[in-house]
Amino acid sequence: MHVVVNAAMSADGKLSSRRREQIAISGEADFDRVDRLRADSDAVVVGVGTVLADDPHLTVKDETLRKQRRENGQPANPVRVVVDSSGRTPTDAAILDDAATTYVCLSEAASVERRAVLADRAELVTAGDERVDLLRAFATLQEQGLEQVMVEGGGELIFSLFDAGLVDELRVFIGSKIIGGRDAPTLADGEGFVTEFPSLDLESVDRLDDGVVLTWRVADR
Ligand code: NAP
Repeated sequence: MHVVVNAAMSADGKLSSRRREQIAISGEADFDRVDRLRADSDAVVVGVGTVLADDPHLTVKDETLRKQRRENGQPANPVRVVVDSSGRTPTDAAILDDAATTYVCLSEAASVERRAVLADRAELVTAGDERVDLLRAFATLQEQGLEQVMVEGGGELIFSLFDAGLVDELRVFIGSKIIGGRDAPTLADGEGFVTEFPSLDLESVDRLDDGVVLTWRVADR
């Protein structure tokens, strides 16, 4: 499995404001880049915090890219995955519509009621007691044939994926805004590292829209 984390952050490293509302950080050229990355992926993953904040659809927007996928024998859109310990994903979330197959990764903490409701609209994966055990959940996704995996946030999930050693590549658009706020989500939140910081090798720097895209490989992988 190859896991690429992709995100857009402000010049001061924030993914959104302290209100946790989605903010336009990048522009058209970056949307196209993200759409191509989605089209090249077998699965697109987000945390339930992102589903609750942004209600993303996570489908490929460009019809030509969807057509190319179909011609390659793939579904028009990649599989969508939500990491959601207790099954908080709303049943009317865009990610649960019929545009693509969706997996909801739960922990044992998810109630029978939430499982029943979500099972009507998604494939359920259970891994972990209180929180989703990402190593086990991603191993199950791999068993389903999902090899090229793109993660679209947010900061809590991204931190945990680095912590679990699951990230191969980080692509980050850095835009021309200052958002600020000590409580605003950043690229990697969670508890933070105090030792054994994951280390990155810079692969490329590309100017795009009003900002820059940095592509990093996770060192020693
Ligand atoms: P998140 O990372 O999307 O989701 C975090 C949630 O996932 C946790 O609170 C937890 O909820 C669940 N989870 C289950 N198992 C986990 C595990 N092992 N590790 C980590 N999380 C686990 O949420 P977020 O950090 O609050 O990010 C949402 C914010 O980021 C929003 O403001 C959104 O607008 C922004 N965002 C920005 C971008 C960008 O590119 N700029 C992209 C995405 C999101 P449970 O305990 O209920 O399971």
